[in-house]
Amino acid sequence: VVELGMPTRSVITTCAYCGVGCSFKAEMRGDQVVRMVPYKGGDANEGHSCVKGRFAFGYATHKERQLNPMIRESINDEWQVVDWETAISYTAKKLLEVQAKYGSGSIGGITSSRTTNEEVYVVQKMVRAAFGNNNVDTCARVCHSPTGYGLNQTFGTSAGTQDFKSVAKADVIMVIGANPTDAHPVFASRMKKRIREGAKVIVVDPRRIDLVRSAHIEAQYHLPLQPGTNVAMVNAMAHVVVTEGLVAADFVAERCEGYEEWAEFVSREENSPEAVEAITGVPAADVRGAARLYATGGNAAIYYGLGVTEHSQGSTMVMGMANLAMATGNVGRDGVGVNPLRGQNNVQGSCDMGSFPHELPGYRHVSDDAVRELFQAVWGRTILPEPGLRIPNMFDAAIDGTFRALFVQGEDIAQSDPNTKHVFAALESLDLLVVQDLFINETAKLAHVFLPGTSFLEKDGTFTNAERRINRVRPVMAPKTGKHEWEIVCEIAAAMGYPMTYNQTSEIMDEIAALTPTFSGVSFEMLDKVGSVQWPCNDKAPEGTPIMHVDGFVRGKGHFVPTTFVPTDERSTRKFPLILTTGRILSQYNVGAQTRRTANVAWHPEDILEIHPHDAEVRGINNGDMVSLASRVGETTLKATISDRMPVGVVYTTFHHPVTGANVVTTENSDWATNCPEYKVTAVQVGLRHPA
Ligand code: SF4
Repeated sequence: VVELGMPTRSVITTCAYCGVGCSFKAEMRGDQVVRMVPYKGGDANEGHSCVKGRFAFGYATHKERQLNPMIRESINDEWQVVDWETAISYTAKKLLEVQAKYGSGSIGGITSSRTTNEEVYVVQKMVRAAFGNNNVDTCARVCHSPTGYGLNQTFGTSAGTQDFKSVAKADVIMVIGANPTDAHPVFASRMKKRIREGAKVIVVDPRRIDLVRSAHIEAQYHLPLQPGTNVAMVNAMAHVVVTEGLVAADFVAERCEGYEEWAEFVSREENSPEAVEAITGVPAADVRGAARLYATGGNAAIYYGLGVTEHSQGSTMVMGMANLAMATGNVGRDGVGVNPLRGQNNVQGSCDMGSFPHELPGYRHVSDDAVRELFQAVWGRTILPEPGLRIPNMFDAAIDGTFRALFVQGEDIAQSDPNTKHVFAALESLDLLVVQDLFINETAKLAHVFLPGTSFLEKDGTFTNAERRINRVRPVMAPKTGKHEWEIVCEIAAAMGYPMTYNQTSEIMDEIAALTPTFSGVSFEMLDKVGSVQWPCNDKAPEGTPIMHVDGFVRGKGHFVPTTFVPTDERSTRKFPLILTTGRILSQYNVGAQTRRTANVAWHPEDILEIHPHDAEVRGINNGDMVSLASRVGETTLKATISDRMPVGVVYTTFHHPVTGANVVTTENSDWATNCPEYKVTAVQVGLRHPA
């Protein structure tokens, strides 16, 4: 134990974990953090925090943190520590060699939602301007890419509709495929306060999360649907709204289009709660009751998570929820809306910043000539009008031999992406894998170049949270590696023949603001003055936009889209009779790269399989037994916990520990529109693991 003494200075910055985006005062003594104090002036958290932001910052100085660049010819060689100049020129030379041999499109980059907006922006700029292609994607591909697609199609923009404060005006709160208590704890507290004040609750989730029943909370409806049947469920709710005359007719007539076709679709008998009961497993009477409550209970707000998006119909379900909100007039004011609870601290920002292969910053399609000309004029390079490769396309192309080099910033794709065997095969076949990270993570173990990154304590920039709020991230110390991540990226681009020069981070935000209409009023100076702001922030909304679509939808009229239910290809079979679904736990975060290197790991030292007492009994499994978890693509071993939170036939685990590697068993099935992996539905078998 090191006695740090009293702090001598403090810096206000933003938590590096979840999409709530809590503000903290980092209290410092020298370059040591004495404590992280939740900041009362933080607009997202108002002085509250959870155990991750408050206590789990020690990873920044963990002994496994890498501070020096390293290179090696082959992954079988030892790493060689080199200086920055060598690492940058080696990386640039190798990237150019691969392009010369295999073509311009043979290289690409992946950005991270754990880095700042400014760091993401320069990576996508490097790919488009220095690499000369659109092969850039972000880890949102594996979480909320269906949110982007679905909300864009229906409302006209790829973001949630409300600010967090809005939940205080909700009379009905419908939580779909999310567990805010564990994954978004500070927002969950706001939600629970409103519930204790009397708001009604509908939970749509196979698992009995604590919002269904816990101290002072008893949901009016829990719809424990079979994994993979979300769309059938939302169609059944819409059927009740339309056929029982619960539609907000004036709202629909004035503000929406496509209603007649959609209403005819959902009214069909095949979409009735009685017809879909056999699909979802939820009693029709409960679905009818929940739909009536949502439509007639006053202000009704939807909050949703990865239990919506990580399905083969993730995008369809997002549109289904938007349809339901429009039909009942629950958009465009306090207490309503369709609200993605976005996972990582800057997943909203990484999407906003153009790190999708089809979109430039501000969600503008690369095929739009006027938009490309705008960027070309400032960047001085031609931007291709054709979308580039998504992450799963990169993996497939790597195995085919046409994609040969990848730059990965801050994402552990080897642990986080589905079907680990396939991911490893792809990464092992690359000529060059460059990883920029704090640690030698599972991906870096397969890399040829390692570029040490900065922790949030060293970063200067902005994160954008789940309510579109742009928060400042301020450094409490200089980069321990000697360089900011954006500087490294700029130097690689320059060494490839495309100079990218900024004197300081604020200049990157100035460029973003100049090129992105929804950010045109944003600058570091402005943020330092007002604290934070929600985009759009521009001439029309100089103080930002807490609630979207107030007078009209971003796309003009809200667009109803019929959402036909298509069952997933992943079915339980005699060999794999159970369905696995995955989620997070409060003390840990995603693949655990940060939290596993803090004292938080003591609370959750391993991933555990939750299994219903009946499913355990028929397999002879007792609480705490080691069990095998097998799917058609792989097998792993973990400890069983017997729990009636799961329905019969469904098992659940987290994915925080590489030793378990839950993604060894998840498959390559993905959302039809965005390729977001179907993590939430995997047919598995569970068996008692006998000691060898
Ligand atoms: Fe806030 Fe999320 Fe950080 Fe917890 S993890 S302190 S809820 S931002």
